[in-house]
Amino acid sequence: MTIPALAIIESDRPEKWQQILSDLITDPKELLQILQLDPAAYPGSQQALTQFPLKAPRPFVARMQKGNWSDPLLLQVLPRLAEEIAQPDLVRDPLGEKQANPLSGLLHKYAGRVLLTTVPHCAIHCRYCFRRHFAYADNAPSRSEWLQVIDYIQRDSSIAEVILSGGDPLAASDRQLQWLITHISAIPHVTSLRLHTRLPVVIPQRVTTSLLRVLRSSGLKVVMVIHCNHANELDAEVGDSLSMFADNGFTLLNQSVLLRDVNDNLPALIDLSKALFQRHVLPYYLHLPDKVAGTAHFQVTTAKGRALIRQMQQQLPGYLVPHLVREQAGAAAKIRLA
Ligand code: SF4
Repeated sequence: MTIPALAIIESDRPEKWQQILSDLITDPKELLQILQLDPAAYPGSQQALTQFPLKAPRPFVARMQKGNWSDPLLLQVLPRLAEEIAQPDLVRDPLGEKQANPLSGLLHKYAGRVLLTTVPHCAIHCRYCFRRHFAYADNAPSRSEWLQVIDYIQRDSSIAEVILSGGDPLAASDRQLQWLITHISAIPHVTSLRLHTRLPVVIPQRVTTSLLRVLRSSGLKVVMVIHCNHANELDAEVGDSLSMFADNGFTLLNQSVLLRDVNDNLPALIDLSKALFQRHVLPYYLHLPDKVAGTAHFQVTTAKGRALIRQMQQQLPGYLVPHLVREQAGAAAKIRLA
């Protein structure tokens, strides 16, 4: 395999997004004080906080409504006592990812595509996350282990698409991304590069001209799947960042999770689809929450999900209605429910 020369594209000066990433809110008290909520009225859960620490970027917190305990963005990040509720159907690895993890950093669940856990961390901790118990420590490959991953992809000519996931792939530096993408794009049967990322929403400053250069340099078809659950997550700065992707010809899709008390109502879902479309993004998937331990309070029934999709179909053009899906361990693809 011929590897193109690596371009050095980063300066020594940390970019703004890196400064924001190193200054996340991790203390519930600080978060509540910023939002003018009384920390004494917050029951909290040390168990939840220890198992999956609070991480909230300041630009995301700035979009929360002050004085509102029910703010839909706050509910996504604030560790709560309800996370201690145990239910037999809520487990640590609901998608059976351990079985699909042949090499450190690589998940091979579906035909024709593989997923790389590019970096073992995110800029935000979404409390409903299906990987909140994921063994990231076993999935933080060294350079030589990444080369084994590249070799795995190279030896399987059925793999046409590589998905960079995480953690969040855009939490990697441009230099790390350039290294990985350069190796991936040198594999002749790989034609498409997909990124699953929440960073353009939670820290829009991450979308820089140098990042765009790295992605464009791949020569691959780039598909950017962002993760946004509520229209309030989309402000002008997020819109500008998404426009930068669109202007570079990247396909822009959104996947959201249907979350109780966050977006499980018709006006919220309609507003989200319209707000995404105004920013060049098509709603793609609406996931029922994965059955992960600690998320009983977010669960929504399939019947409710289907009813909401039916109502959306009556009010929106088809391209603004996402597919309702659920992931099932061992299934050959996501299960479409509506
Ligand atoms: S950004 Fe994605 S992977 Fe990271 S915590 Fe949120 S849902 Fe999980």
